[in-house]
Amino acid sequence: MNPSHNLKKIQDTIPSHVKLVAVSKTKSPEQILEVYQAGQRLFGESKIQELLPKAEQLPEDIIWHMIGHMQTNKVKYIAPFIDLIHSVDSMKLLQVINKEAAKSERIISCLLQFHIAEEETKFGLSVQEAEEILDSEAFKKMQHIQIAGVMGMATFTEDHNQVKKEFLQLKKYFQHLKDKYFTNDPNFCEISMGMSQDYLIAIEAGSTIVRVGSAIFGER
Ligand SMILES: *Cc1c(COP(=O)(O)O)cnc(C)c1O
Repeated sequence: MNPSHNLKKIQDTIPSHVKLVAVSKTKSPEQILEVYQAGQRLFGESKIQELLPKAEQLPEDIIWHMIGHMQTNKVKYIAPFIDLIHSVDSMKLLQVINKEAAKSERIISCLLQFHIAEEETKFGLSVQEAEEILDSEAFKKMQHIQIAGVMGMATFTEDHNQVKKEFLQLKKYFQHLKDKYFTNDPNFCEISMGMSQDYLIAIEAGSTIVRVGSAIFGER
C-alpha cells in the first residue's frame, strides 16, 4: 500500500479528539511530501539533525513535533519553530529548552516522558523524578515552558494486556500530575502514547496523541 492510502485508512480508525503525528524519521522529503499532499500536516522526527534539513526544504505549514531523546547542545536549532517536544526526560534539558525558547521569544510546549515499559533501555522519568522537577524553584521560574502533558512508550511485546496495563499506568500518572500541579491549567491535557503496533490499544486507554510511523510510511 502507498503512504497516502495507509494514512487514510489509519485516519478512519482514529477518533476526532486524538491527534495523529506521522512519524517520518528515516523517510525522505519526497516521501513526506506525498503524505503532506494527502492532507497530513503534523509530522514527528526523533533526531534534531534529521529534522532540520527536512524542515528547511518542506512546506512551511508543516507542524513539527520532536519525539526522540535530545542532546541539549542541539536544542537551539529547533527552538525557533518546534510545536511540541514529547521527550523531556530531565531537568537539565528543560532548562536548556527554556533558555532557547526565551531567545526566540516563545513559549515551547513540552511533554514529560515517563518510563512505563519493562525494557531498561527506554528513556523516561519516574513519577518521583517528575515531581522533583515540578516542585523545584528553578522550574517555577521558567517563563518559556508550557508543560502540556505526558508521553510514554509501552514494552515491545505481542501481549496486549501488558501493553494496555502500561498505557493505563501512564494515564494514571497524567491524572495524578493534573490533580497535583495542573488543576487550573487547561493546557495540561495531552497523553502521547501509541505507535503503529499499539495505537488502537493506546486510544482505548485514553491517548490524545498517537505517533505512527511504519504503518503509514512502510517499514524502516
Ligand atoms: C519511531 C517512533 C515512533 C513510531 O514508531 P512506528 O512503530 O514506526 O509507528 C513513535 N514514537 C517514537 C518515540 C519513535 O521513536
